[in-house]
Order: sequence, then structure tokens, then C-alpha cells
Amino acid sequence: MERALRMKLPGGRFTNVDSKRSRTMSAIRGKGNKSTEVALRLGLVRARVRGWAVHPNGFLGSPDFLFKRKRVAVFVDGCFWHGCARCGHLPKSNRAFWRAKILKNQARARKIDIGLRKEGYRVTRFWEHAIKSHLPECINRLQRALHVR
Ligand SMILES: [Zn+2]
Repeated sequence: MERALRMKLPGGRFTNVDSKRSRTMSAIRGKGNKSTEVALRLGLVRARVRGWAVHPNGFLGSPDFLFKRKRVAVFVDGCFWHGCARCGHLPKSNRAFWRAKILKNQARARKIDIGLRKEGYRVTRFWEHAIKSHLPECINRLQRALHVR
């Protein structure tokens, strides 16, 4: 963990983290993202959308999906990690840490978007909750982005 973030924790370490919470956190970190990515992937296959690669190696920001020929980069932002106003909520303990962490993720995403746009890519970001509950709308939005010239 880097210094700037560690300093947001009382005494430089996590406190009052019960084992249930830490299990939840590691589950969000790993599987949460994976399942939305798989859902979007299935949606694309079903809608017969083609021309994408998943996590292209060494590509700026490592987009979740990249349409190289159409020059569209797609990210699925986890509601917790990116501070979704609708469903993101801060854990009760170590709030300063989580707030700083999430702000950092948001700043990083903005930087990536700017960099990709400079390279001539359009960037489409979906919230995790949108993929989970409104997949067809997400696919439509993406298809529109793919057909803009
Ligand atoms: Zn959300």
C-alpha cells in the first residue's frame, strides 16, 4: 500500500476490520468485477457485436473491452471502487482511507480517458450496477458509440 494512502489510516493500519468485512472487500476486489465483465461479454456475443478484445496487453488504462478498428475503449467501473453516487457507500471504519482511495481511482480514470481521447479513442464507461440491471440499454449505448464517426 502506498504511503499517501497509508497515512489516511489511524496509526498507518486498518482498524476495526472484522473478518466478515475483509472477506467482503476481497470479494469485491476480485469477483465483483469479473462477473460484470462476463455479463457484458455475453451481452456482446448475444447482440452479435464483434471486433473487440478483452484487456489488451499494454494498452493505456487496460480497458475492459477495446474495439481497435472502431477506436472505442470500454470500461466497467465498480460501484464501490469508483464511488458510484447511487450505490457506492463508504465502510464505517477507515473512512478517510476509503475516501482517498476512491478519489484516487476517479482521478486515475479521468487521466486515462484524457489519454485515450488524445489517441483518437472514444471512451465509454458503464457502472457495474447498470451492467447488472440494465444490460440491454448498455449494449444499445455501446452500439451507438460504435457507429459514431
Ligand atoms: Zn452503482
